[in-house]
Parts: sequence; C-alpha cells; structure tokens
Amino acid sequence: MNGSACDTDAAYRARLRASRNQRRAAVFIDKDGTLVENVPYNVDPAQLRFMPGAREALAALARAGHPLLIVTNQSGLARGRFTRLQFAELQAVLEQRLRDEAGVELLDVLVCPHAPGSRGQPSCLCRKPAPGMLLRAAHKHCLDLARSWMVGDTLDDVESGRRAGCRTVLLDSGGETVWRLTPLRWPYVRCTEWDAVAQAILGDRLRALVIEGGQPHPSKAG
Ligand SMILES: [Mg+2]
Ligand SMILES: [Zn+2]
Repeated sequence: MNGSACDTDAAYRARLRASRNQRRAAVFIDKDGTLVENVPYNVDPAQLRFMPGAREALAALARAGHPLLIVTNQSGLARGRFTRLQFAELQAVLEQRLRDEAGVELLDVLVCPHAPGSRGQPSCLCRKPAPGMLLRAAHKHCLDLARSWMVGDTLDDVESGRRAGCRTVLLDSGGETVWRLTPLRWPYVRCTEWDAVAQAILGDRLRALVIEGGQPHPSKAG
C-alpha cells in the first residue's frame, strides 16, 4: 500500500466520520392513536384531537433539537375511503395546528397509501411494520437512525422502528389489542403518557438502555 492510497483512505474515513456526526437524531411519530386520537379513516379536520400531552412533548423534543416526522399507514387511500386531496387537506390542518398550538414545525410527513394483501400479508415496503418510510426519510434528510426514536401505539410501530435500527417507545394508549410479541416487537420503553415518552427520549436514555438490556435484543433486521 503506498502513501497516497493511505492518505486517501484516511481522508475518506474522516469525511465519513464528519458526515456521521452531522446526521441528526430524529423522532418518528405515528399519527393515529399516538399523536391524535384514533378515528378510523378520518379526514375531517374538525375531528382532529391531539392525545393528552402530545403538543407539550413534541415542543420539548423540538427544543432539544430533534427533527420530528410523522410516519403513518393510511390504507384508507387504497381502500377508496378517502382521496389523496382529502388527506392532504387534513395533513395541512394538522401541520398548521402544531405550528399554532405547539410552536412545532414537522420536518416531514410520510404516508403509506397501500393496503395489506388479502390475507394480511405485506404488499409494499412502506406499510408498518415494514421500515420503508423511516429508511426513506433517513436517506432524504440525513438522519442517524441508530440515534433516532420511533414512537407509536402499536407493536407494528415498534417493529418498524426496530427494523430501521431505531430505539422505540410504545405509547400504550389502548391501540394494541393483539400483543403478538416477538423479539422485533419488544419496545425499548413502554409509556402510558406523552410526558413519560419525552422524558425517556430526552432525559433518561440510560434507563432506556437498562430496560433494553433486560429484553431480548435481536440483531438488526436487514
Ligand atoms: Mg397508531
Ligand atoms: Zn406502502
């Protein structure tokens, strides 16, 4: 190996380190049953109600420098329950209300418009529990998935976060009913209130790691 090749390698590694340091730790947030009350197939802005403490928690996470993104399954689009325009109008109201009521600007909103297959099998790469929306967002916005968090009210949310290599919080608001627990579906942290979610992400990472250590910890899925 000659000197110039080594220099090139060193420069490359330095650039890689620098770009990794610039990657931001995001918080991915499920919409229905997590950020807002779950009203199935709702596109009526009048029925948007934030979950208790959600606005305050998002404001705290944003103040700490975390980019905030919504990742949401909306099979109502594939099922013809509402149109993309109707959903876009709901999304605009949701984003504006977060600005007005929490001072929060979302970095992005990612939507899976697909339905699962007829026997419930995956029919796309983005519908949670698949990690496609998180991976796409990370690439687009230069996010550090290993330092990012996924917050959701179902184990499908947890699994999508784990498959993307993120830490996960289950906000147990009653959305999960099946409790089909596999190693990929263990949350790192389980909370029943948004206040505790923000604490877990902001102040109590050490405790989160301890909890993680007590759970089955599968290697990252490909
Ligand atoms: Mg949900
Ligand atoms: Zn999809």
